[in-house]
Amino acid sequence: MQEKRLAHLHTWGCQMNAHDTEKIAGILKGQGYDLTADPESAELIILNTCSIREKAQHKFYSYLGYLAHLKKRRPFIKIGVTGCIAQQEGDHMHELNKAVDFSFGSQNIMKLPDLLHSESFQAAVEDNDAIVTTDLPAQRDNGVRALVAIMYGCNNFCSYCVVPYTRGRERSRPYENIINEITSLATNGYKEVTLIGQNVNSYNGGCSFARLLRLIDNVEGIRRVRFITSHPKDFTDELILAMAELRTVCRHVHLPMQSGSSRVLALMNRRYDYETYIDKVRRLQLAIPDVCVTSDIIAGFPGESDDDHEQTINALNEIEFDGIFAFKYSKRPNTKAALMDDQVDEDVKSQRLQEILSCQDVITERKNKALEGSIIEVIVDGRSETDPNAWIGRTSTNKIVNFSSNDDLQSAQFLNVRIVKAYRHTLEGEVVAGVSCSNKEPGASWSGKER
Ligand code: SF4
Repeated sequence: MQEKRLAHLHTWGCQMNAHDTEKIAGILKGQGYDLTADPESAELIILNTCSIREKAQHKFYSYLGYLAHLKKRRPFIKIGVTGCIAQQEGDHMHELNKAVDFSFGSQNIMKLPDLLHSESFQAAVEDNDAIVTTDLPAQRDNGVRALVAIMYGCNNFCSYCVVPYTRGRERSRPYENIINEITSLATNGYKEVTLIGQNVNSYNGGCSFARLLRLIDNVEGIRRVRFITSHPKDFTDELILAMAELRTVCRHVHLPMQSGSSRVLALMNRRYDYETYIDKVRRLQLAIPDVCVTSDIIAGFPGESDDDHEQTINALNEIEFDGIFAFKYSKRPNTKAALMDDQVDEDVKSQRLQEILSCQDVITERKNKALEGSIIEVIVDGRSETDPNAWIGRTSTNKIVNFSSNDDLQSAQFLNVRIVKAYRHTLEGEVVAGVSCSNKEPGASWSGKER
């Protein structure tokens, strides 16, 4: 019997990248490859890169250095680079590191089979509108929850962000293709879909985003729908109404605020001010009182004064997010912010980030504690990696709940759990038999946080 060829995939960055890797895995399966977690045993290695922050870029170059050494020992290995760095550097990736055999941007994943067979370095990084209508076979690890891309690219040009340069302008998939994919996922047992795109609520693939949610709500078998990422300027009343009315839409919105200072928001080219932002959050909370709102914050954007930073802290206390992702600003190539005067000292950025995280920690913990004693529906994600009798569930509000059970619980099972103990980042629960919850359970809290 012919031995299977092994491929190793390594991914950095956002859910768009995670889903692109699923599509790459699906293509490689069709080319006769099995996946391996061990790069040392692979004959093909593909790195899916991120350039949203300097740190992610450094990690890629350092891993590529290791692979270049590996290739000296195993010269038959082929190395491909995709994702945002490939899109920016693709044409001369081979000059940057001779170990790289091919590179392709996220819009050109469908060209992978040809690139695999090329004898000399090849790059496929041009804009390619075919990405919105080409349905690629994604190989998903999780048989319960699926990522579904609904649009690609971004038109917003926030002054700190490379995405419009790496993923191009906004292009939406036709809604018929999306519904077909989700119907097929439901037929195969998937219960939850997360609609992904750089700016999902400006979706325009033949209907509005709110209308798309209504169409998905009619797909039999789908119990939960999430979406990420939303831009505050496109967060409409039509969308809020759909969220409040629909059976499937989860009670969690990730709505990046970035700063509590309207002056800094203008410098960021975010196209909303703080008053507009908080008004949208309050409308959302009015329509869905138990909604969980999370956000992104950038600490130390160029020109940010102590007073601007103070306004961000005040905003955190005023809005009381359920959780935030907060990062220090880092310069990205080709962006306006990288050229701005008044870059903030690293020490000041670090201190401000710490103050932001400390402030939010108190709020997140307080909100989680308020859930103790409540009964919440979770979808079973799987077993804990450390304890064979412990299970992990996820609430509609995207909160992780750890609970024990001696039963062999199947993934995709919906269970009710009572929250017995709340921590800053997780909840501890116990299974409640014979109590029924609706899909729109009372608000749980989210506290996912990346430092
Ligand atoms: S909305 Fe702004 S931050 Fe988000 S992807 Fe587009 S340019 Fe980047």
